[in-house]
Amino acid sequence: MTGTDPNDNDPRLSRRALLAGAAGLAGLAVAACAGPDRPRAAATGRPLASPTTSSPASPSASPAADPAAVKANELGVIPVMMYHRITPTVAGEFDMTPKDFRAQLQRLFHEGYRPVRTIDLARGEMNVAAGYTPVVLTFDDGYADQFRMSGGQLDPECAVAIILDVAKEFPDCAPAGSFNINNDPFGLSTATARATGLRTLHELGFEIANHTFGHDNLGRLDSAGVQRDFVQLQRLVREAVPEASVLTMALPFGVEPANRALASRGTWQGDDYTNEAVLLVGANPSTSPFSPTFAPAAIPRIRGTSWHGGTAAFTGTYWLDYLSRHRSRRYVSAGNPGHVTVPRALAGQVAPRFRDRLVTY
Ligand SMILES: [Zn+2]
Repeated sequence: MTGTDPNDNDPRLSRRALLAGAAGLAGLAVAACAGPDRPRAAATGRPLASPTTSSPASPSASPAADPAAVKANELGVIPVMMYHRITPTVAGEFDMTPKDFRAQLQRLFHEGYRPVRTIDLARGEMNVAAGYTPVVLTFDDGYADQFRMSGGQLDPECAVAIILDVAKEFPDCAPAGSFNINNDPFGLSTATARATGLRTLHELGFEIANHTFGHDNLGRLDSAGVQRDFVQLQRLVREAVPEASVLTMALPFGVEPANRALASRGTWQGDDYTNEAVLLVGANPSTSPFSPTFAPAAIPRIRGTSWHGGTAAFTGTYWLDYLSRHRSRRYVSAGNPGHVTVPRALAGQVAPRFRDRLVTY
C-alpha cells in the first residue's frame, strides 16, 4: 500500500484498537502463539550476529550458559511490536519518525531484547543468545519508508536501514523482522523492481509475510475471496523470490474472516497457503510459544507508536516500562536451542507437547 494508510481511515480499527489498547494497559491480558522448524528463507538469508559494543547488563553470549546465571525463563512473555510508516511527518496514530523508531530500537536492544521474525515465534525457534529476550519487529502495509533502495544503497532513514544500523551497536544482535505486505510492496511497481527489492529484503534475513493482496477487510469477503487474497499475495512473492516461503500473516484492520480457519490455511486455483501465525492489531505481549495458552492464530501485537494521534506517549514505551518493572515475566533465553528451559517451579506450566524438551534448574 502506498499513500494513505488504510488503517488510519478505518473507524472500526480505531475503536477496536483503542479498546484493545485499553484492555492491554489494564493488565497483562496475554493472548498467544505456537509451532516447530525453520523456514528455508532463514537458512539462506540471515546474517550472523556481529558483536561490537555496549553489552546489556547480564546476558551472556555463551551458548552453554548456566541457565540459573542468566535467570532463563522460556515461559515468559515476548513483545511483538507493530509498525506502519516510518516517516519524518507524523500524521496519525500509526506513524513514527525515523528518530523515534531508532530510539525505540536502541532501548529494546539496550534492555536485552534481540530481534526475531514472526515465524521464529510461531515455531518456538527464537535463536537468541542466553540471557536475551526475543522481540518480534513487524511492519504492515509495505510502505516505501520501511524499505527503500536508491542506486543499490539502502535509504538510511528507512526502517530496514535503521534496524541494520542499530543492531550493529549491540552484541549478538542479528537484524530480523517481518514485513506484512500487499500488492504494491514498498512502491516496487514493476516485476523487475519487486524481484530485486524483495530478494534483497529476503537475503538480509527479513521475513516477507502476507497482509493479503488487496488489504481487504476479510470480514466482508466471501470464502473464495479470502483465499484468493492470500494466494495472490503468495504468488506475487514467489514470482519475485521463488525460494522465499510466505508463512505468516497479519490481518488487515485486525479483522478476521467469517470462517476463521481461512486465516490459517486455504486454497485457491490450485495453490494452497498456510499461515503458521496470524497477527492481531492489539495490544499486549505474546505468551511464550511453549505455554499452553499460546495461540498462533491470534498473536497480539504492541503498537510501537502512540494511539493518541501519533504524537503522545508511545504504547511501546508503556509496555517496555512494564516489562522493565516486571522483569521476571519476560521470556529469557537459555541459549539452548531445541530445549525449553525454565525454573523448576514452572516446569508444570510448560505445554505438554514440549515436555520432552524440558530443561529445569
Ligand atoms: Zn494494514
